[in-house]
Amino acid sequence: MVKYEPAPGEEDSVAVALANTLRRGPAGEVDHLAPARSVEGWVAEHRLATQPLRFSESDVGRLTELRAAVRELFTAAIEGSAPDSAALVTVNGATAEAPGAAQLRWGSPSLRSEWQSTVPDTVDAVLACIASDAIDVLCGPRGTSLRQCAAHGCIRFFLREHGRRQWCSNVCGDRVRAARHYQRRRDQA
Ligand SMILES: [Zn+2]
Repeated sequence: MVKYEPAPGEEDSVAVALANTLRRGPAGEVDHLAPARSVEGWVAEHRLATQPLRFSESDVGRLTELRAAVRELFTAAIEGSAPDSAALVTVNGATAEAPGAAQLRWGSPSLRSEWQSTVPDTVDAVLACIASDAIDVLCGPRGTSLRQCAAHGCIRFFLREHGRRQWCSNVCGDRVRAARHYQRRRDQA
């Protein structure tokens, strides 16, 4: 298996990280949140709970639904189109399900708000935290650097840190350059 190279912004945004758990590999779509075991590992890895959390099948379904909604909203924001209204309902519903308060985090490179739920270490709180981050990405300064990888067949998002970066990873950049090189050689032949 190819070693996973996180896209820029995944460490800065758990919503971008969640969106990118769905990838397209040479053999089709790869879902890194299946099975439920992987979900629990992913949640721990992103420090979304202070203790191991159990995800039932329906909890996994809710997380997968949130991921689809976040992907829909990110795509609409990048394309400047209107999203499916169900995606808005899902993301807004997730913060409403786990009452809490937005906390200001004085971070670098950007300030952001982080959801502090009154029911921590629950699946609801995990979903609310991710949804709140998605809202913050879309409404805040990080939204202007949100991009989808321009490599053919890649469906990952990233936060562009500098320059004119178009790819989510060196793997995608190399793949595009190799394809262009091949095309040029063929045109010359
Ligand atoms: Zn890519």
